[in-house]
Amino acid sequence: MSEQTEYDVIVIGAGPVGENVADRAVQGGLSAVIVEHQLVGGECSYWACTPSKALLRPGSVRRAALSVPGAREAVTGGVDAQAVFARRNELVADWHDDGQVGWLDGAGIDLHRGHGRLTGVRTVEVLAGDDPAGTVTLTARHAVAICTGTTATVPDIPGLAEIGVWTSREATSAQYVPDRLAVIGGGVVAAEMATVFAGLGSAVTLLLRGGLLDRLEPFAGDLVAASLESAGVTIRRGVGVARAERVAPPAGDGSPHGTVRLTLDNGETLDVDEVLAATGRSASSRGMGLQSVGLSDGSWLTVDDTMRVLDTDGSVLGDGWLYAVGDINHRVLLTHQGKYQARAAGDVIAARAKGGVVHDDPWGSHVATADHAAVPQVVFTDPEIGSVGLTAAEAQRAGLPVRVIDYQIGDVAGAALHAKGYTGQARMVVDTDREVIVGVTLVGPDVGELIHAATVAVVGEVPISRLWHAVPSYPTISEIWLRLLETYGRPT
Ligand SMILES: Cc1cc2nc3c(=O)[nH]c(=O)nc-3n(C[C@H](O)[C@H](O)[C@H](O)COP(=O)(O)OP(=O)(O)OC[C@H]3O[C@@H](n4cnc5c(N)ncnc54)[C@H](O)[C@@H]3O)c2cc1C
Repeated sequence: MSEQTEYDVIVIGAGPVGENVADRAVQGGLSAVIVEHQLVGGECSYWACTPSKALLRPGSVRRAALSVPGAREAVTGGVDAQAVFARRNELVADWHDDGQVGWLDGAGIDLHRGHGRLTGVRTVEVLAGDDPAGTVTLTARHAVAICTGTTATVPDIPGLAEIGVWTSREATSAQYVPDRLAVIGGGVVAAEMATVFAGLGSAVTLLLRGGLLDRLEPFAGDLVAASLESAGVTIRRGVGVARAERVAPPAGDGSPHGTVRLTLDNGETLDVDEVLAATGRSASSRGMGLQSVGLSDGSWLTVDDTMRVLDTDGSVLGDGWLYAVGDINHRVLLTHQGKYQARAAGDVIAARAKGGVVHDDPWGSHVATADHAAVPQVVFTDPEIGSVGLTAAEAQRAGLPVRVIDYQIGDVAGAALHAKGYTGQARMVVDTDREVIVGVTLVGPDVGELIHAATVAVVGEVPISRLWHAVPSYPTISEIWLRLLETYGRPT
């Protein structure tokens, strides 16, 4: 740990976003320190993106092989759970952050381990453990950036906390396959973890109050639900959990913690070995001294487009010294979008510190304009979902004159070659006034790698007439673009 206590920039939270804010500030000629109370690399590296995708990939590869006669015959068994866990453990470096600490070092960023807390303007106290003697006070010459992310929200259901409910952390770091798993929730984490554990052999029951993946186009959730059900997952719709209790002691490998009985709000009971609460995220800002600068403890931090924190009256807080970047500002809870914000924030902090020009007009280099209209996301279920921009319903709510073009991806020659019986759907949402695409959703095997083309079209506001000249290669699934454009019709 460095003896230095004054820096140009202090970043609290060394997740992917904090690392990038600090890196860009250093590249801009500033000094930077990061404060981290757990692992450098954050939720994404150890309990979210990396382990979840590591757990999903083997099942996806197996399904891909099964969908191609000739390869199918080589598949003689299911995925090997212990090998899956071992590869996941390796990809998360066994929950050690030496590699990422080395990266910070190489990037010229200092690290203070401990809990960061604001104590006033440009001042951060770092509490390392319980010993007050270990507390260090850091001051920032220019900016403090809060990049503390989120924690899983556990619903206030009687008994749930006592049974040792799983959150996304326990699910993504699991070292065994429960025989029976209940998943509460219908969002991305619920859908992906149901896919993982069904593929590993658990009897999964998905408990949904509303729809599955209902922030996306409706057909996406429908296709994933049908596939989960065909993989043996039981989907219970319109039910919640009223109570949870452990009713049986540990009983062997599939149930090391004993049976949990869930009482549903319709009075039925469900016995399982583990329960995963995938019911949303809360701001990681509790106990961070936000009150010392007039903000509320535990709240999400609202920001302007350059990521400066706004005061309760909507104006920039103070002289604009406090930034909130990534999940904590609740704009978009995705790593790539947080890192995009971080590049803008680190650059603008450096520009402001040096009295340079700030490019804060829409799509300028110091703002995160894409957060509003062009957020890409891949959901790694079976089938995969890739989406960017607005759904048809969102575009209509925004008052845009839209035309919705749908096409079955399986009807594209490249898809039929890719997998026997390829099933998937594409939707393109076009603003008919401007004749540009404002949203695309692709659902089908391996579409995750296709969505970036759509992102370029949406961000670039490429006119449909020009897209006709972007010719997809034959025979690839990308020919879906040609089919969507033909269905729309060539503008004259
Ligand atoms: C199961 C799951 C799967 C996901 N999969 C994907 C995916 O495939 N793709 C994708 O784009 N997104 C995914 N996400 C979302 C992604 O994980 C987040 O968007 C991303 O981690 C946000 O990065 P961040 O740096 O803002 O916060 P975090 O990654 O949460 O990092 C915040 C850091 O701040 C630290 N911290 C918090 N408070 C303090 C404090 N007071 N003092 C010091 N340190 C502090 C924390 O310990 C942590 O290291 C997934 C999320 C989950 C839960």
